[in-house]
Order: sequence, then C-alpha cells, then structure tokens
Amino acid sequence: MSVRVRFAPSPTGHLHVGGARTAIFNWLFARRHGGTFIIRVEDTDQARSTRESETMVLEDLRWLGLQWDEGPDEPGPHTPYRQSERTDHYGAVAQQLLASGHAYRCFCSEEMLEAKRKQAEAEGRPPHYDLTCFRLSPQEISAKLNSWAPFALRFHVPDDGDVTIDDLIRGEVTWKKESLGDFILVRSDGLPTYNFSVVADDHEMEITHVIRAEEHLTNTHRQVLIYRAMGWDVPQFAHVSLILGPDRSKLSKRHGATSVSQYADDGFLPEAMVNYLTLLGWSAPDGRELFTTEYSIGHFSLDRVNSAPAVFDHQKLDWLNGQYIHSMTAAELLPRVRPFFDAPWLEEGIELVKTSVTRLTEFHEALRFVREFTPAEVDRSFCEAIAADLRANGAPVDEGSYKAFVERLKTATGAKGKALFMPLRLALTGSEHGPELVRMIPLLQHASESDPMVLSPLQRVERCIG
Ligand code: GLU
Repeated sequence: MSVRVRFAPSPTGHLHVGGARTAIFNWLFARRHGGTFIIRVEDTDQARSTRESETMVLEDLRWLGLQWDEGPDEPGPHTPYRQSERTDHYGAVAQQLLASGHAYRCFCSEEMLEAKRKQAEAEGRPPHYDLTCFRLSPQEISAKLNSWAPFALRFHVPDDGDVTIDDLIRGEVTWKKESLGDFILVRSDGLPTYNFSVVADDHEMEITHVIRAEEHLTNTHRQVLIYRAMGWDVPQFAHVSLILGPDRSKLSKRHGATSVSQYADDGFLPEAMVNYLTLLGWSAPDGRELFTTEYSIGHFSLDRVNSAPAVFDHQKLDWLNGQYIHSMTAAELLPRVRPFFDAPWLEEGIELVKTSVTRLTEFHEALRFVREFTPAEVDRSFCEAIAADLRANGAPVDEGSYKAFVERLKTATGAKGKALFMPLRLALTGSEHGPELVRMIPLLQHASESDPMVLSPLQRVERCIG
C-alpha cells in the first residue's frame, strides 16, 4: 500500500513553526517512501477560519519549498481539499452512524448541557454527557422531530470502548472507555466537529499515516472509536512532541518569532529553516546537523523522531542560517538578498561580506560602508601619496592590480604591514574594521562606476585630504 499523508492546517493565522515542522515531517515521510503528500484545509471553525489565512499558510509552505501532490489548489482524486466544501461527505457518514445505532440525535440545549456539567462537577463526577437523549424512545424522538426541535448528532461510546494504539513515535498508548463521555459528531448548526470530519476525511482520502502534533494525541481515542464504528481500517498514528522555549514552557511569542513568515522577514533562508525544524525532533543517523533535503529525504524515519519535547534554540538557528549563507555563491544569494537591500553592485558586495553575516537582513548593514563614507583623520602626506597613485594608475580592479598598487604605495610611503594597511583602510572607509582590502577596493571602484551614491577610492582619499 502506498503511503499517503496529510498536513491539515486550520487557517486561523500564519503558519506557526510547530505546524511547519509537522508539515515537514509529513513531507519528508511521503518523499522518503515515494508516497503522496496532501494539504487539507480544516476550515470548519467558521468564526476563526479565513481565506486570507489559508493563502498565507500555503504561501509559507511554498516558501519553505514543500510541494504537495494534492491540496486546495492541486486537484486530486479526493477534491475538494477544504473541509468547508466537504459537508456532503460528512452528511453521508453521519447518516450511516445514525442508522447503525453508533450515533444518536441529541436535543439538549447548550444551557442544559452546561447546567449538567456544572452539577456533575459539584458532585465530583466526570463531566460526561448523562445519556438523556440516548435513552429517548422512538416516539419521543419523532415528537421532537415533528416539532422541529434542533438537534446535534452524538456518538455513543460503546462498552468495548477501550482503545490502544501503537504510536510510531510514542509507542503503545491506551485509553479506557470510562475516560470518555458520548461526544458530538455534528453540531446543531450542521457543522461537523473536528474529531468527526478528520476521521471521515482521513478515511476518504486513504491516509495511511497520521503524523501530527502531540496536542491531538488525546483526540485519537474518539477518532479510533469512529473508525471502528464505521468498520474502517485505522491509520498508523505518529504524534510529534511539543516545541518548547528555552525556559521549557510551550513555545510562544514571548520566546521570539513563532510564525514562519516572520522568520522569512527576518532574513532566514527557507533551506536553513527546513534544516533547523527537521532537527527539532529528528536526528540524522550519523548525527550530522547540517543537511540538504536530499539527505533528510533519503534518511528520514519516524523511529528517529524523539518523543521528548524539543527546545527551540535561536542561536542554533542563527548558526545554521549563517552556514547556509556562507556556503552559497554570491549569484545564488543575489535574488535572496534583493528584497532586503538592492544596489547595482550587489553581487560583488555579497561576495565580499557574506562570510560575516548570519541573516539576509544583515547585508544592508555589512555593506553600508559602500554608500556611506565619513572621512577619518589620516596623515595628509600618506593620503596624498595614495591619491597620486590612484590618479596616475587608476584604482585597482582585481587582485593583480591591487597587489601592484600596494607595492607602489610601499615604495612611495616607506610604510609596510599594519602601518600601511591601517591608514589605507581608514582613508578609504573611514573605519578601522571591514572586509579585506584586496576585494573591497575593487568593489568601491566598480560600485562608483554604476551607482551615483558611491564615491570612488580616489574621491574618498581626496575627501580625507579636505
Ligand atoms: N487541523 C488540526 C490542527 O491544525 C490538525 C488536525 C490533525 O492533524 O488531525 O491542529
């Protein structure tokens, strides 16, 4: 049987890093097994779901480089992939559960249920539904239906309602029947509950492995009971543990950015994000921390996913992002840097400073010296010697001409080593620190030829002279 997995976002905001990690694990698992990766939008919570959010979530997934085989924008054998458009499917399943006696109509109002819950609580009983409507006679039901009384559809937990699953990450997990009361499948407004629609869809879409967040583990009890009632095969479950902040509380905005798009805006590369998020739970067989998606696809397995919570470490993410930036060529980085900072000489600038930055947003600052120049105090005769050479020979434009330039300056000034390079750097950049001169001086010359905001090496030295 071929692997079919789904990522099922609720479109109620941006894609959270936790959701992104769940999506990545599903995607890696599908690709590893030559399976199918599906996006199913769980938008039945009408008050909170928006189409804008769906668009953003899909954009964030695309930015990460995840490609899905079936989804709201990718027709497949089980179109539509938006739950709000699948109500017919749920209706048909609900009918079957009602007909087979696994579910019943519940006419209790919200106020009545609330009062019952409070009473149970006061008496120290579990707040389970008291089965009032389960016990209605056919006559009583007909009477209520004839008077158009609104009803919900409730699932009856059977006597043999204990459930044990073999979770692919957490191992055996068991729930006792007593821990559940009869629960709602379809609300009185006709909308299915999460536990119901998820089962109907996972079955219909032939999902073989449900890889999702640990917060859904307890829902699995109800879901397995619905599978059983329908006589359907139960998929394999894999519940991925929580992501914690450095203080070991659940990752939240207090710990920094939590949405994928915020990381994009902050200058992280999607490759680094995917690599980092994969490491939040999964470890490579050889322990490597830096890997391509080809590698993780080739080696991914759920039994190497840790059942303990993962701690989000911003420093490690920064480090990884830096590794990616340093290993990419300037040509590769160019289109990535452009949304943050642009200049006609950008590619040469990137080449010059890329090993000193860890985020795409930092290129602007690292290259500020190209357009912004404040002359420093430099020995006047030294500056005149530089200016004279630049006028006579033109500015260095590559390594060869730079070396020749330095040799001539040594002769002209009698200075060498630090006594030569420090005032040279100061005269050209106004600062004691910066990238290597051998590539910086050619960049300044080239940039001044294409960008009116850039002073050439000669213009800079002339400003130092005053
Ligand atoms: N829509 C659910 C969520 O966003 C996912 C449910 C599932 O994967 O079963 O948490």
